[in-house]
Amino acid sequence: MPAVSLQLPLLQNWSCHNCGGCCRQHAISITEEERDRILAQNWTPESGIPAGQELIREERSWLGKPHLQLAHQPDGACVFLNEQGLCRIHAKYGEPAKPLACRIYPYAFHPSGKELTVSLRFSCPSVADNLGRPVAQQKKDLKELAAQVLPANYRGAEPPKLTNRIRLNWPDTQRVTAALDESFCDSTTPVALQLLRILFWLDLVGQAKFDIITGERLDELLGLLREASVAEVPEIPAERLPPSSISLSQFRLLAGQYARKDTEGTIDLSWRGRWRQMRYAMQLASGKETLPPLQPGLKPLPFTALDADFGPLPPESTEMLRRYYRVKIQGLHFCGAGYYHIPVIEGFQSLALVFPVVLWLARWLAASDSRTTWTHADLREALTLVDHQHGYSPILGMWGARRRVKNLVATGDLQKLIGRFA
Ligand code: SF4
Repeated sequence: MPAVSLQLPLLQNWSCHNCGGCCRQHAISITEEERDRILAQNWTPESGIPAGQELIREERSWLGKPHLQLAHQPDGACVFLNEQGLCRIHAKYGEPAKPLACRIYPYAFHPSGKELTVSLRFSCPSVADNLGRPVAQQKKDLKELAAQVLPANYRGAEPPKLTNRIRLNWPDTQRVTAALDESFCDSTTPVALQLLRILFWLDLVGQAKFDIITGERLDELLGLLREASVAEVPEIPAERLPPSSISLSQFRLLAGQYARKDTEGTIDLSWRGRWRQMRYAMQLASGKETLPPLQPGLKPLPFTALDADFGPLPPESTEMLRRYYRVKIQGLHFCGAGYYHIPVIEGFQSLALVFPVVLWLARWLAASDSRTTWTHADLREALTLVDHQHGYSPILGMWGARRRVKNLVATGDLQKLIGRFA
């Protein structure tokens, strides 16, 4: 196994609280070696697996590539999840006997120079609520896991591009990501205002001449641009200008993609199911009639129900969102290998869009419960939905979704959406 040096998130805690959510929501891909190991474990009705129950099946990716997956129970849960919400493999043979994908979740490892940087998936409620041991104290276990993820001959990877045309070296890329991270340090500035200021200075960074600006000169430039952003964007605009109707339509389509949470138990690949999804997309695009019921907690309300003022963000939700941004930036979970191989600036713009999407979905959750104020539970539920998809739904990495985000940026409507829902 290769020796691995890790950069760990500074603010994040996590331990598994056995909610079983990940074992219900994810399709677990396994290797041939893991298949052989599981089949040799001799699962019988006495150990809780009904006779004739399929354990492993071969699936095809949307590109037609075959791969092995753990089978599911009729309700969509993993075949090894027991009635108490615990893993049978873990209970019988210990944690190291589980498939690697199960052992890694909710962690994600991404190249950062010669090291790996560690991020977490906020689709796990314990991550969103910062529950458990500090991640910084889990270095030994994480190093062991990371060594299993890396190819034996790993010697580092290329840095993510800054824009489609510019690729900086690792130290300069890390200067830009450190400036992004520092921009969220001040806990007295609203997250929405921090996002608006970053979008301002990051746009100018994309226009710089990097053949002459590197090293300390880049640090100076980033410092000056960040200062300028405070002067140019002193506050969230009091007058909340509405985005254009085309931008609102594109926003709702993107938000609808984030709100889908297809599991083995709920996905419907029949023509009827596909037609229903198409109809839902048309409803979202038009913004007329009612919101489509994308899942049980999101009811078919009038679109106007989400325009009301749902009150200020609860302080714990502000802390969660600020921590979300810092963990994703420190873990390079928004660009390059951590996000569809998209450049840093475009990746941050998609990450900024998460803010209005989460607030829009939290309003929908609250309104679906007949409330006119939101709670931290609404915002946490919305963030877990969104981060289940962000960087993992193939559709969000495709040309159409990327084009929509670029249009929102080009028209300045991304900023209006952040201000509108803040
Ligand atoms: S193998 Fe165990 S940990 Fe992995 S999804 Fe199934 S029940 Fe969950």
